[in-house]
Amino acid sequence: MSKLSVIIPAAGSGERMGSDIPKPFIRVGNKTILEHTISRFLEVPDVAQIIIATSKSYIPTIKSMFEQLSTDIQLDVVEGGAERQFSIYNALKLVSAECELVAVHDAVRPFVRKQLIEECCEVASNIGGAVLGVPAKDTIKKVDADKVIESTPDRSVLWQAQTPQVFQKELLVKAYESALGENFIGTDDASLVERIGGAIQMVEGDRENLKITYPVDLKVAELILGVGK
Ligand code: C5P
Repeated sequence: MSKLSVIIPAAGSGERMGSDIPKPFIRVGNKTILEHTISRFLEVPDVAQIIIATSKSYIPTIKSMFEQLSTDIQLDVVEGGAERQFSIYNALKLVSAECELVAVHDAVRPFVRKQLIEECCEVASNIGGAVLGVPAKDTIKKVDADKVIESTPDRSVLWQAQTPQVFQKELLVKAYESALGENFIGTDDASLVERIGGAIQMVEGDRENLKITYPVDLKVAELILGVGK
């Protein structure tokens, strides 16, 4: 199997959580959310490198976190940017030459399962890209600036994209350079690859791979870990 480099963007401010501490650094149980997330990737044999993008002030925290980990995996930290996309681009420049695949995984999705990471890698190796996701459970509405509903896309073809999103390295680099050159900002990595015509397949995951975004998500995370208050 191809060697995998994992980029974990962790440079968000956590505005929607309403917390002073950025989300990846909030403790749930005995570890921070970011440490839970990293531990999931340490279980995957093909992972050769993990790169964390974070704000300047958290770089020393990440470095001391790395010192606690006993692993042969190459661990790197890089300063993030103003947008998630810029944080990932900074990390992309550090991807090791030996890695043919790159996974991008949100720091705030600590419950991703090893088997699903591996499934995404296999699909990406075969076709170019893979995105973990689940069928949309809510009906999605398209609205205008006044919130007046314009249309209702057919739910049976809608999926919620999660992470990891895994790509062949050359494809992802090309997509990022194209997006940067044309000032395109996307909310996920696949959208950049879609723009340049790259093939990406959805891999069905599970709803436990939640993105800790709002206070209620933190409560669910505590329940999953059995540390609810
Ligand atoms: O803001 P959002 O919920 O989309 O963030 C998803 C992930 O991207 C989080 O792990 C967050 O820390 C990271 N992020 C980043 N740099 C930014 C904004 C978000 O690394 N400028």
